[in-house]
Amino acid sequence: MTATHCPYCSLQCGMTLTPRPETDGGGYEVTGTNFPTNRGGLCEKGLSSAELLAHPDRLTTPLVRDHRDEPFRAATWDEALARVVDGLTVAQERYGRDAAGLFGGGGLTNEKAYQAGKFVRVALRSAAIDYNGRFCMSSAAAASNKAFGIDRGLPFPLSDIARADTVLLVGSNPADTMPPAMRWFAAGRERGARHIVVDPRYTATAAASDVHLQPVPGTDLALANGLLHLAIKLRLIDTAYVADRTTGWDAVRRAARQYWPDRVERITGVPVRVMERTVRLLAESRATMILSARGAEQHAKGSDTALAWINLALALGLPGRPYSGWATVTGQGNGQGGREHGQKADQLPGYRMLADPAARAHVAGVWGVDPDELPQPGLSAYEMLDRLGTDGGVRALMVMASNVVVSAPRAEHVRERLRSLDFLVVSDMFLSETAELADVVLPCAQWAEEEGTMTNLEGRVLRRRRAVPMPEGVRSDLEVLHELAVRLGRGEHFSADPETVFEELGRASAGGKADYAGISYARIEAERGVFWPCPTPEHEGTPRLFRERFPTPDGRARFHVVHHRAAAESPDDEYPYRLTTGRSRPHYQSGTQTRRTKALLDAEPGPAVEIHPDLAARLGLADGADVRLRTRRGSARMRVRLTSGIRTDTVFAPFHWGDDQTVNALTNPALDPASRMPEFKVCAVALDVTTGE
Ligand code: SF4
Repeated sequence: MTATHCPYCSLQCGMTLTPRPETDGGGYEVTGTNFPTNRGGLCEKGLSSAELLAHPDRLTTPLVRDHRDEPFRAATWDEALARVVDGLTVAQERYGRDAAGLFGGGGLTNEKAYQAGKFVRVALRSAAIDYNGRFCMSSAAAASNKAFGIDRGLPFPLSDIARADTVLLVGSNPADTMPPAMRWFAAGRERGARHIVVDPRYTATAAASDVHLQPVPGTDLALANGLLHLAIKLRLIDTAYVADRTTGWDAVRRAARQYWPDRVERITGVPVRVMERTVRLLAESRATMILSARGAEQHAKGSDTALAWINLALALGLPGRPYSGWATVTGQGNGQGGREHGQKADQLPGYRMLADPAARAHVAGVWGVDPDELPQPGLSAYEMLDRLGTDGGVRALMVMASNVVVSAPRAEHVRERLRSLDFLVVSDMFLSETAELADVVLPCAQWAEEEGTMTNLEGRVLRRRRAVPMPEGVRSDLEVLHELAVRLGRGEHFSADPETVFEELGRASAGGKADYAGISYARIEAERGVFWPCPTPEHEGTPRLFRERFPTPDGRARFHVVHHRAAAESPDDEYPYRLTTGRSRPHYQSGTQTRRTKALLDAEPGPAVEIHPDLAARLGLADGADVRLRTRRGSARMRVRLTSGIRTDTVFAPFHWGDDQTVNALTNPALDPASRMPEFKVCAVALDVTTGE
């Protein structure tokens, strides 16, 4: 029996894997452990995760082909890696260093995320790296850095939720996305806490709350500003906190005058009386939390929307107060650590900025290279994908832990751009939709087959342990990056050993915002996880941030004036409804894993678009009917699921499916100017009744 953590979401539930006797079907028994976040609980995804370890679709040999219209053939690792080196170096010789790049993922361990960033900047000396977390956490991260001077999803332990008297969740549905986390919400409600949910859908989380606000998708910013206006009008502002711990209040107070309640009701559809009740609940309890997630953040104004909710939290005096504050609930397994160690186009390890000369000097010193060798920041995720194969764009791309053909906005365009590459190599456990386009596919290890660390949604660094032998023919991405670096002549800078890489990561992060210097594998083992920042081995780690000061130059949090603006695309005669997207409970991300798990597929065998019965009646659609969703970018076919829990002007579709059911074929790549987050959560859509194509 080996203790490790779930391969899926950012809760990173503790679990054990125990070999099951062959007489009992073999494989591994998964059991939840008494880890501080899940306390024994696991959702159906975690419980079924071991099924993938010996799945018949598992890749156990590298695949190569000479032409994209040929089938793959099995190859040796030596041949596959030689082709990768050739593909990367030929592109760089022809088009320059930035013609070779890497697209990473928020599911990579800290060690791999760190090594991927270093590989691109040191071994390839290219600026071309970004990752799928740009599509996930970037808006909240940008807002948090601006307001608080640091970006940690929850600045307090998850269990603090049970001690809050009022919790407002905006665009967050943990009852479906991370069910074991609901124990902390339930414990709060048993104490009498009030919960408020802001969501265009009446989700399972909304059903467990006291108040549900159902705004028009894309209007959360106006709603937050409207609540702030009411808080000022009702004299609910914590003036002492604002004076002592913040800057910028006067400008925000003046800007909030424009958000008078009737106007906000017209924009959002939320009745004034519901807004008043909400703001009183937020302001009049002893401990209040505002938790944000992708519903509010995946917009072309996502970082301003997050700032609007932070403004409200600061005005009410919440951040740093016990069992209170603003936080963002990270989604991907290593959504937190994945954004701290240098996978982002503009960042270096320790959350340092690549354009900062002091940061470059520090990290280059740890890497043993000249700071002038390090490239400047490159393009963000969608911008990189949009320019693949074009002048000045990447011509040879490595993809690790990402299935962009399903998960990127305007997915059909992204597929075309990938097809235009001179060379594509994908590292994956399965032949994902993106891997199907590759010249070389590298079979990588799964979570339970290798050592590493993850940083969960609380900023707690934890150990993933090897519980299962790695199948013959499979390699860890760390080994692959090491071997490629050797073949590129920079091998002396790269280790393949996870603990050695983690120690180096700690040195590279020392003095940065996300400081891991005092964390070691032994400490994580002994303490069941360590919260960053943790600058020295003697430091106890930092479960709670902002108690005395904010990590800004003057120690104060910053208000920012932010204004509502319409979504990039509004309904019109041709595309009369709004589409919003998200997760369905049994599935995870692009579905590469969960669509291959029998219990999860049985629970949700295909995508269902949620439609209000009134809208369905107008369109002549029955429950279970086939419908084609169409936007300016593409179309997708789905089954209708009628629910009165969604607005009559909005439909919801999950994003876990590929081919003709890819929701992201529809979504809008309009980008947030600050974070470069695409507008996943709202676009204009038409619904075409089909005859079951
Ligand atoms: Fe895994 Fe998340 Fe489910 Fe926990 S809640 S078992 S981490 S998918």
